[in-house]
Amino acid sequence: MRQYKIVLVIADGLGDRPVSKLNLKTPLEAADKPNIKEILKSSMVGLMDPINAGIRPGSDTSHLAIFGLDPYKYYRGRGAFEALGAGAELSENDVAFRGNFATVNSDFMVIDRRAGRKLPEADELVKLLNQEINEIDGIKVRFYHGTEHRVAVVLSGPGLSDRISDTDPHEINKKLNMSYPLDNSPEAKRTAGVVNKLTKRIYEVLSNSPINEKRSKEGELPANIILLRGAAKYQRLPQFSSYTKINPAAVTATALIKGICKDLGFKVVTPPGATGGIDTNYDSKAQAAIELLKDYDFVFLHIKATDAASHDGLIEEKVKAIERIDSVIGKILDHYGSDIVLAFTGDHATPVELKDHTGDPVPFLLYVPYSIISDNVSDFNEREARKGSLKIIGLNVLNLLLNYSNREEKFGE
Ligand code: ZN
Ligand code: ZN
Repeated sequence: MRQYKIVLVIADGLGDRPVSKLNLKTPLEAADKPNIKEILKSSMVGLMDPINAGIRPGSDTSHLAIFGLDPYKYYRGRGAFEALGAGAELSENDVAFRGNFATVNSDFMVIDRRAGRKLPEADELVKLLNQEINEIDGIKVRFYHGTEHRVAVVLSGPGLSDRISDTDPHEINKKLNMSYPLDNSPEAKRTAGVVNKLTKRIYEVLSNSPINEKRSKEGELPANIILLRGAAKYQRLPQFSSYTKINPAAVTATALIKGICKDLGFKVVTPPGATGGIDTNYDSKAQAAIELLKDYDFVFLHIKATDAASHDGLIEEKVKAIERIDSVIGKILDHYGSDIVLAFTGDHATPVELKDHTGDPVPFLLYVPYSIISDNVSDFNEREARKGSLKIIGLNVLNLLLNYSNREEKFGE
């Protein structure tokens, strides 16, 4: 049997509901998608529940499921994936946090959760913290800069736990929280203690730094604290190549997704101009995927723009992003149309009028380069997908791809 290469395109937060400004069409219905329409006659179409019916997924849990790993078994919280995406090297049992540079007053009242959002000095501040704070009570501490005001903080040492609460109060005009243990273990107690001491040290180092002195003089808010959340103990995920026998590569610019892919053993590429936002360079992403297909049999292309537009309520931007993704798919098919099976879907719905993820099923399309019984649909969107043959959950995706690329191992004899 001829084996085909596999391309998986995920438009983050693709799924939607009827939008009043689009005459009750969804963005996927409103978007012009000539390339996708062209392949419908050689595709299966349907709906996917990323986790299960009605479950509201995060991008992390849904990607785990789509990559074939049960999130209820493998999901350890977001901190570790973000840290990996920001370039951290993690060892088993390290505890990682996501964090924001933020502004507090001298009573530790949070004035701004993002230190005014404009923080070109973030790299320097992270460097300073790594110079000044090496350990707390025998626990090694490292800081990594993500994007903008985002940082990852990693604790390494014996006897740590991730069963501790956030210091981030998640709102302004609230006092920074003390971290407290979420169970009765000595490890959780010890880790919460380390986090509270660390938070004080961070405040001392940052509030005395010349960088913040300069910011204050220039009328900018000082970045004098890091709000920590999402403690996660790092446990390495199984390697994608070991459970699929395929060498995978990913094109993505989003720290969280980069982190998951790195951990699964993907070759991860962030091409020039790829931003993880609505201004991303689509051509450069298509080109990167086309290049990777020379050497890899599984190429995953992640586009965040659809989710970013949805969270900001930008209807037209979401439609435009879908149209650009259509042209990316067209470019890949121009090069490899007869050599690949290609799936296109979202990792969850992010209805643009709600600006948040929902547990709605997401349209799913699977193109194959040979003759199949295709679904009788006239377009690819939330409405037409209900007429298609596929009714799947995220955990089915990988098996479908392996089966139709003739790579699935036989179960039994
Ligand atoms: Zn997502
Ligand atoms: Zn989102």
